Amino acid sequence: DPAAIGIDLGATHIRAAIVAADGTVSSVVRHALPADAAARRQAAANVALHLLARHPDRWIHAIGLAVAGTIADGVLTSSTNLGMQAVDYRSEIHAATGRATTVLNDAHAAATAEARLVDGARTATILMVTVGTGIGGGLVINGALHTGTGDAGEIGHVVVDPGGPSCGCGRRGCWEQVAGGLALDAAASDEARADPGGRIAAIAGDRHPGAADLARAAAEGDSAAMGVVARHAGLFAAGLDNVCAVVAPHVLILGGGIMARPGPIRDAYLAATRTLRWHQGDVRPANLGDNAGMIGAAQAAWDNSRCRAGG
Ligand code: BGC
Ligand code: ZN
Repeated sequence: DPAAIGIDLGATHIRAAIVAADGTVSSVVRHALPADAAARRQAAANVALHLLARHPDRWIHAIGLAVAGTIADGVLTSSTNLGMQAVDYRSEIHAATGRATTVLNDAHAAATAEARLVDGARTATILMVTVGTGIGGGLVINGALHTGTGDAGEIGHVVVDPGGPSCGCGRRGCWEQVAGGLALDAAASDEARADPGGRIAAIAGDRHPGAADLARAAAEGDSAAMGVVARHAGLFAAGLDNVCAVVAPHVLILGGGIMARPGPIRDAYLAATRTLRWHQGDVRPANLGDNAGMIGAAQAAWDNSRCRAGG
C-alpha cells in the first residue's frame, strides 16, 4: 500500500514515521536534535533517508515535514526556537530522497490531523494550541486550515507581559516565553538556584533543572514547585483567553510535548482553561499526543500528491 513519511522537526527533537493513507503510523523514530547547526539542518533529510532505507518494500511516494517556524513556498523562513532561517526544505529533501515533499508549520500540521478526528468539524471552528518549547497555533474553520497571508496562528508571540523575558522573535514577554516549555525550564532552574536544598534541586541532581524536574517535585506535593506550576498555568490561561477572544472556537484542543506528558503541569494547564472568560466551547487534550504534527505532515503530503495525480 502507498504511504508517506511524516516528519516533525521541533525545537528539541525530531520525530518521523511511515504513515499509511488511513493514518496508521509505523516505524516511529524519535531523537534529540544535534547541537551542530549543519547536522541540525540535515536531520530532516537524514531521518527520511533512514526510513526509506529501512523499508525498501514499502511504496513511499511523498514526504511531509512539519517545522516549528514560519513557512513560505516550502521554505522555512524563520524559527524562533530552531535558530534556522531561509532553509529551502522542500528542495533539499526532494533532492536528497527523490520524493515530492510538502513543508508546513508544526502547529498547522497538528491542527489538521486533530481536526479530522472531531465530529462536526465541517461546520466548526477548531483551535489547536501546541505547548512545547514554544507555543503554536492552528485554526481549522469549517474543515479548512486557516492560514491568512501564511502565518495565521503564530499565537506564541502574542505579548502578554510587555516587560517580560526576551523572545527569539525580538519582542519581550511573548506568551511562549512566560508559559511555554522554555519558561517552565527557566522557572525550574531559578527555583533550584534560589533553594539549593529544595526538592527541584535534589531531583535534578547534577543535571540542569527543567520542566520535568518541576513536574516531579509538584507531583510529590512540594509546595514551591506547585506554586511555580500554578503561576505558569495562570499565565497560560491569560494568553489563551486573548486568543479565544479573537477566535471563539467551538473546540479548543491542547497538544504539544508539555501536554503529552501526564502529570501536574498538564493537569494545571487543562484546569486553567476552566477560568477562561472568552471560551464557551469544548476543551480537549490532543488525541494523537505529540504524534499529531508528524501525522498531519504526512496527510498534507498525501493530499498534495493526490491533487497532482488528479490534475
Ligand atoms: C513558532 C511557531 C511554532 C511554535 C510551536 C513558535 O515559537 O514561532 O512557528 O509553531 O513555536 O513549535
Ligand atoms: Zn516571540
